[in-house]
Amino acid sequence: MSNVHDVVILGGGTTGLSAGMYSVRAGLNTLLIEQSGFGGQILNADIIENFPGFPQGIAGPDLVMAIQEQASNFGLEYAFGQVQALNVQKQPMILQTESDEILARSIIICVGGERNRLGVPGEEEFEGRGVSNCATCDGYFFADQEVLVVGGGDSAIDEGLYLTQICSKVTVIHRRNQLRASRVLQERAFQNSKMDFRYDSVVESIDGRDAVTSIGLRNLKTDQSEEIAAAGIFIYAGYHPNTLPFQGTIPMDDGGHIKVDLNMATEIPGVFAAGDCRWHSARQLATGAGDGVTAALSAYTFLERLDQSA
Ligand code: NAP
Repeated sequence: MSNVHDVVILGGGTTGLSAGMYSVRAGLNTLLIEQSGFGGQILNADIIENFPGFPQGIAGPDLVMAIQEQASNFGLEYAFGQVQALNVQKQPMILQTESDEILARSIIICVGGERNRLGVPGEEEFEGRGVSNCATCDGYFFADQEVLVVGGGDSAIDEGLYLTQICSKVTVIHRRNQLRASRVLQERAFQNSKMDFRYDSVVESIDGRDAVTSIGLRNLKTDQSEEIAAAGIFIYAGYHPNTLPFQGTIPMDDGGHIKVDLNMATEIPGVFAAGDCRWHSARQLATGAGDGVTAALSAYTFLERLDQSA
């Protein structure tokens, strides 16, 4: 049974890395599986101002590197791959990747979520040619040009504010007449002379030839449509949890968020979920880290009981 891990963590964002750090520090043989690169959503964050301990803020990639280094120092092991299915019916549980079967006595799912698409014509076609969801990656391409930002949440306003440093004008398009973003971000945005707002409006199409040149916009109150010229459109229409491979195996709500109790435990013994992929998550970096820690401590308790009952 030497190839059976005490804990296998799915996902190498802040949540998974925090879980991993606590798990190895508790003396558990722990493997973290990541499908692409460490860091998850914050890899795109230019500056994070609300993670405790960084009064001047910290760039997303720097924070990820620091947490990963910290976890590695304690001996966390990593593997790359995509877990496609779980068999959680008996011990040890089995995680099926593209090429491998991994055995685990407990599993912590920290797979986060992915950005929603608008589902309008031109969105996929112009991806990387004017359509983006990463201001820090792509904002530079629109220096001194007018761009659009879709969404009214923290991501839209945060990234929109970043774009004002590069672009000549940033117009936020929001489907309601009130932003969802936190008050501090809203105030900053309203005070920024480069930011403009189009409320009660939705994007109907993204148009152009080789690259985006305009979008079709419809006002939901007046039902009037118009064309707005823009070279770039940054879309931040929320996200959905990356839990599709576990549907039918792990209990979830209608939105695909994994159901857990206060210990991050699912109904399935030995299976835990943490961070943005669980239900009722505050979806903040700090709460994700906290969730990961809670899940690791719960996994430790679970394994202790499992050993006692053996
Ligand atoms: P979010 O809070 O879910 O906001 C998504 C926005 O997109 C909402 O304004 C929503 O409109 C709009 N939307 C959704 N579907 C749409 C559609 N089909 N068409 C047009 N608009 C649509 O997502 P988020 O802004 O990505 O934030 C995710 C989480 O990360 C949040 O908890 C946020 O606090 C956190 N975050 C924090 C920071 C920070 O603190 N600096 C930065 C980024 C993200 P409605 O308002 O009408 O629903």
